[in-house]
Amino acid sequence: MDNNILNTSIEYLKGVGPKRADLLRTELNIYRFRDLLNYFPFRYVDRSKTIQVKDISESLGNVQILVKITNIQELGQHRKKRLLVTAFDASGTVQLVWFKGVKWIKSAIKIGEQYVVFGKPNFYGGTLNFNHPEIELEEKNKNKEGNLQPVYHSTEKLSSFGLQSKGIENLMRNLLPQVLNFIPQTLSQRIEKKNHFPSINNAFANIHFPKDKNMLKKSIIRLKYEELFFLQLGMNRQKLNTRKKSKGYVFKEVGDNFNKFFKDYLPFELTNAQKRVVKEIRKDLGLGSHMNRLLQGDVGSGKTLVAVLTILLSIDNGFQACLMAPTEILANQHFKTIENFLNPLGINIALLTGSVKKSDRKIIHESLENGSLNILVGTHALLEDKVKFKNLGLAIIDEQHRFGVAQRAKLWKKNHYPPHVLVMTATPIPRTLAMTFYGDLNVSVIDELPPGRKPINTIHRFDSSRLKVFQFIEDEIKKGHQVYIVYPLIEESEKLDYKDLMDGYESIVRRFPLPNYNVSIVHGKMKPEAKDYEMSQFVAGKTQIMVATTVIEVGVDVPNASLMIIESAEKFGLSQLHQLRGRVGRGADKSYCILMSGYKLSNEAKIRIETMVRTNDGFEISEQDLKIRGPGDVMGTQQSGVLDFKLADLAKDGQLVQLAKIDVDELIALDSNISSLENQSIKKELIRQMKLKPNWSNIS
Ligand code: ADP
Ligand code: MG
Repeated sequence: MDNNILNTSIEYLKGVGPKRADLLRTELNIYRFRDLLNYFPFRYVDRSKTIQVKDISESLGNVQILVKITNIQELGQHRKKRLLVTAFDASGTVQLVWFKGVKWIKSAIKIGEQYVVFGKPNFYGGTLNFNHPEIELEEKNKNKEGNLQPVYHSTEKLSSFGLQSKGIENLMRNLLPQVLNFIPQTLSQRIEKKNHFPSINNAFANIHFPKDKNMLKKSIIRLKYEELFFLQLGMNRQKLNTRKKSKGYVFKEVGDNFNKFFKDYLPFELTNAQKRVVKEIRKDLGLGSHMNRLLQGDVGSGKTLVAVLTILLSIDNGFQACLMAPTEILANQHFKTIENFLNPLGINIALLTGSVKKSDRKIIHESLENGSLNILVGTHALLEDKVKFKNLGLAIIDEQHRFGVAQRAKLWKKNHYPPHVLVMTATPIPRTLAMTFYGDLNVSVIDELPPGRKPINTIHRFDSSRLKVFQFIEDEIKKGHQVYIVYPLIEESEKLDYKDLMDGYESIVRRFPLPNYNVSIVHGKMKPEAKDYEMSQFVAGKTQIMVATTVIEVGVDVPNASLMIIESAEKFGLSQLHQLRGRVGRGADKSYCILMSGYKLSNEAKIRIETMVRTNDGFEISEQDLKIRGPGDVMGTQQSGVLDFKLADLAKDGQLVQLAKIDVDELIALDSNISSLENQSIKKELIRQMKLKPNWSNIS
């Protein structure tokens, strides 16, 4: 039993009692002393810094002033009621306005007293206004520890029971002296020393009541670090456990096929990133446990070749391999590429999709079962029960996000042990996320493009320049190139978007008529066969323009396409824009991406478009995406709970993530079971935290 004082029910803290305890529980999830201790200020007010009213300008943002109240006026009735307070300092007068909590504020302030007022001023009708500022009696602020006063989030309910920020601060002052000496160690002395961290109790004392800015900064860093350290350590442990539990086939050999292909038929030298990733995969496959690896690489980074080499490892070790793609077009494309690569080696490969004839299917089924077929490429047709392998050792899945977890699980059942799984995705996950999430254990990243790639020139144009853009399309087609024009299709406004698409299509056909031009169209409402037909016309170069919704987002490879036009670009998310742009720039010619939009753009849309124009780097884009949307949305909501940090911010604290990762790796290298005496505090804290956290889900 852990009877540490930190576990005491919050009700028993001086100043709380049953009613406030109830509110603290329901409003802030504060149940015990520990929870309150971990309820951190969200900012600090430097009480030493006030400015004069005459120096205020709107551009300063939040300011703090020291003023005396001269008049308090209640105006309006019922819901339109507001409180108008006039106050001044030696240099000028301000108006303080409240629309909510009028009664309460009115009773709490007095004419003639000196107040510290904090808020964002605005000029309204010639007077200087503060709407809903923070206000506090001046003398109460004389604060012993320094000039930084903590500000805590509160709620309306809590405020009405005296627990506004100031009230919470008072509770904290009661709490700290009681608990400071009983806060358990969390890190080892070695880690504390190495990183020049303040001690744990110093960190807690200073995050609530900072001695000075420097100590505050150090304390926040330590506490953020702890969040990141224990998350990564926990991930690391968990991965190790699953790894121990799930057996897999051992691919010991690097055999004839691999070597021969590598020596004689490799069409180009591997990039360093490809080499590193192949090494990581090889190591994984030799361990005797089941491989479940995510291969992440920007569009065009050369994932297919890595897949081919992995397939050869499987074949050399006596196992079959399969590759599954989300669409028929993609499956076709992979089939052709891989067949080309492996033709000289005499390896048998087949394609299985929905449109393969029954008689051909039968042959495929048979040769799979008798083992004469080495590689099967296809769509989810591979998942059917009829598809039985003699000895499936490896399953590669392209473009992960198109498949559901249940579908992938089916693959696992295709052999005695589950086949090794390699999931390839072109949606880069920001490095910081990948690190914290996967503990780096089974993610491989191709972070380098093959040499000689020309960056795609990205341009933003308003709808009013459409005629010029049409001219540009014509010029590109004259050069023998092909063009994509993509329209958004967003579920909420599906009808409208669909109309936009059809209108757009018609105006394109009018501007680029037969017989000189052929225009294809692909959208979600078409039958799969019709879609595939249109797509294959474009792939074969029989049509010059492809008008489409985002269905073409994934994977299609038409090297002759040099221009991507994205209509209503403001409606797309960053990663989607990047995926779409990745459809061009695959051939030898200079490629372009034109983002079309109206004049009215939200701030976020502006940032997205600017980011696209500025960079081609998928990782930079994903980091930006993380900044705009936050980790939960970038990863998909199912996993967001894991990333609910109190202090750390994955978008901003990349360096700390990295530092914590290095320390976790070092810890594991030195003391793999975390059993040494000096690491006992780490072990205890880890066990405590792992009991609280939800389970992280596996990749596949
Ligand atoms: P993606 O990662 O988007 O699936 P692909 O595997 O389709 O990328 O590769 C994109 C293009 O780059 C292909 O045409 C491929 O042949 C070529 N490629 C792959 N690796 C290399 C390399 N090491 N050097 C030169 N070109 C390469
Ligand atoms: Mg690909």
